[in-house]
Amino acid sequence: MCNSVHSKGRIYSTPRELAELVGGARNLVWQKKNPFVPWPEEKDWRQMDLCLCPVNLEATLSGAGLRWRRGDDPMEFFVEE
Ligand SMILES: [Zn+2]
Repeated sequence: MCNSVHSKGRIYSTPRELAELVGGARNLVWQKKNPFVPWPEEKDWRQMDLCLCPVNLEATLSGAGLRWRRGDDPMEFFVEE
């Protein structure tokens, strides 16, 4: 299972979806290291249509000014309204 972000009944599970929530792709905060193993060396791992593993969700959500909490499942992030 991968991380997911829940807001107003919608589930965001890719960087492209999350970009809509945080006001654009430039507001995504990526992890410092590639979380995908294995991964082709020459290929950019910051892929908009894969899962949220390469995104630093704490920094992305807080940086967008959203209040959030982790669910009972620590891979679920809930944006508070
Ligand atoms: Zn993942």
